[in-house]
Amino acid sequence: MAGNTNKSDKPVASTEATAVLPGKTVVGWQGVRFSLPPEWNVTGFSLDRDNGYVRVDSPGTATMSVQVRWSNAAKPEQGPPTPYYMFAPYFRKLLKRPAPPVPKTDLRQTLDRILKDAAKEAKKSGRAPFECQTRPEKAEGLNDERIAMGFTWTGAGRGQGKIWRCSTCNRVVMAQVVGLQKDHNQIGAVASQLFATFQDHSVDGNDLWALYDLQAEVPTEFHLAAHRVMSGHLHLAFARGAERILIDRWGLANVALKRFKLQEWFERNAQCATAKMTHSNAEVNGHKAIVATGVLPLAARLTAMKECKGSMRPFPTRYTGGAWHCEEQNKLFSVQVLHNAKTEGLWDQVAGKCHCH
Ligand SMILES: [Zn+2]
Ligand SMILES: [Zn+2]
Repeated sequence: MAGNTNKSDKPVASTEATAVLPGKTVVGWQGVRFSLPPEWNVTGFSLDRDNGYVRVDSPGTATMSVQVRWSNAAKPEQGPPTPYYMFAPYFRKLLKRPAPPVPKTDLRQTLDRILKDAAKEAKKSGRAPFECQTRPEKAEGLNDERIAMGFTWTGAGRGQGKIWRCSTCNRVVMAQVVGLQKDHNQIGAVASQLFATFQDHSVDGNDLWALYDLQAEVPTEFHLAAHRVMSGHLHLAFARGAERILIDRWGLANVALKRFKLQEWFERNAQCATAKMTHSNAEVNGHKAIVATGVLPLAARLTAMKECKGSMRPFPTRYTGGAWHCEEQNKLFSVQVLHNAKTEGLWDQVAGKCHCH
């Protein structure tokens, strides 16, 4: 991070801020990214990109947590989609008319309501009295794209946070560090790290997906379609129409590799039969990766056809998949892409940004 040029409230718009560094926990989810002190753990997240949350707890006895919520101000919750909302963007495009301005969220009003609710709850529960302070609105961000308002509160515990609206991505984000009374100083320190590194939208066309010890970057147009989070196996699947990016990370590589060679192990776990494809090697993070490239088999195409639900996006016809063993972390990684012939270089792009050690 560009420490001396970075005023405490300015977000860092460089991917350097999220490079793997041993001294911090990097979190990336649905286009939001930030870093925290080492060993913090993601304990909750949502699958919805427009209205989402992520929660990260401090290590050990875990008396502190970071809670982040966001919503897309350009897509207010409308219930079931009405014909107007479905067709209006299409006609605007046809007539080359700009989208209507996004209604401004009144941050002060929103924050006041949230804090008032918290005070009411505190009173009902009869616990410590709830007190809060808010700061005036302030422009922040590299290009003043955020209007932000800071707040602190004490009650049954204490918290320090911020609510802001970003004019670039139209997200309204509320993030806070919560802990016990005794955590006072630490809450302040964690909050400065959180807000100095917070990005609410991608700056280079890639979303960072970082949780536990996985850190991968995926083009923003691919959305999270499925995930499996188990001790020992992390699986994230991303979709753009019927095209797919699949990222897997397994622990205890030494145990798996006692029974199988990397090649055999990969063939057993690959999305489709790869034995007859073209095999080559690539270098990923200094490791030798085995790579299989070929035409997407018929069975996989049929599955893709079923899953694409009438999408007009290019249909996947090709497959590239590869795996490597990270000795340093004792983990096995695999990246697979099911892509259209016109989508070139996707595997290199994703595998090249899938960090391991
Ligand atoms: Zn933004
Ligand atoms: Zn590695």
